[in-house]
Amino acid sequence: MTADPIDSTPYAGSAFADRRPRLLVVDDQPINIQALYQAFSADHQVFMAKSGEQALQMCAQHAPDLVLLDIMMPGMDGHEVCRRLKSNPATADIPVIFVTAHGEAAAEAEGLDVGAVDFITKPIHPRVVRARVRTHLTLKAQADLLRRWVYIDGLTQIHNRRHFDELLLVEWARAARAGTSLSVVMIDVDFFKRFNDHYGHQAGDDCLRQVAAALRSGLRRPGDLLARYGGEEFVCLLPDTTLAGALELATRLGERIGALQLPHAESAAAAHVTVSLGVGCKGKGEGGSAADLVRDADAQLYMAKSRGRNRACGGALKPD
Ligand code: GH3
Ligand code: MG
Ligand code: MG
Repeated sequence: MTADPIDSTPYAGSAFADRRPRLLVVDDQPINIQALYQAFSADHQVFMAKSGEQALQMCAQHAPDLVLLDIMMPGMDGHEVCRRLKSNPATADIPVIFVTAHGEAAAEAEGLDVGAVDFITKPIHPRVVRARVRTHLTLKAQADLLRRWVYIDGLTQIHNRRHFDELLLVEWARAARAGTSLSVVMIDVDFFKRFNDHYGHQAGDDCLRQVAAALRSGLRRPGDLLARYGGEEFVCLLPDTTLAGALELATRLGERIGALQLPHAESAAAAHVTVSLGVGCKGKGEGGSAADLVRDADAQLYMAKSRGRNRACGGALKPD
């Protein structure tokens, strides 16, 4: 095969800048798999499946970046495989290109209807298939990047408020359904305006980055979320965590920030940067709303501030 000059262009600046894209080739005929394998194996990681069932299993296991999918297969056909991939949130974003012997418009239309991004007819022309795959991998990489930036805070590289707000509703519903507890910890840097005024805005930014990193490394469970809530405020979402557990964690997080020993000459709470933390908790089987939970955490943070800062307070506030 002669080298295509465009083919040598890497997926610059994308998710594939430092790894080979993963392709899944699905076809019941080994000779067709072989042809596609030869077209891509030099610069892609190629996985192969000989049936629809195997394709779904490989998708769950290897999270391919793109699937080249035969339509006519014994057992589960390509259309059904595509439908199932698209209806599962874990695999819905994987682009699917149908590769089929049928060049009829009706078959193509049905393929696109079930969610495929493109359609290629057999026998394949390696340069054509490569060009189309490259286009869709590039689009996928760009979409992945956008999805990432939508949920990540640019300064601290932790999750942002938008992500917290969305996950809060998900975790609230899960906790209500399962009858488990759910805690929220609001965290606010003490006297941070004075820090900026004294050390400058850039030092302030650097301080926020260090605080975020220390908080992140203080969370242990995979389901725990840390996000920048805004300005110098952070928030933790702790599924299946009781008030006592969340208060213990909050106290430990506060100690971690103190242990950074970042000098803060203008703080009235300590000689270094400190945080105040407020814990809200929805106990097992309790009602209310996700907004109440955040409001409780906020009220407790306010309490921690008014009691002298550099401390954690927690509990559900009873109405007056
Ligand atoms: P308190 O102890 O009551 O929390 O006082 P505070 O000064 O920390 O609170 P206040 O809300 O008065 O001020 C927050 C300051 O945080 C004001 C703002 O300049 C600073 N800030 C917010 N976002 C950023 C940021 O992204 N970078 C920097 N450097 N400063 C920020
Ligand atoms: Mg604040
Ligand atoms: Mg503050």
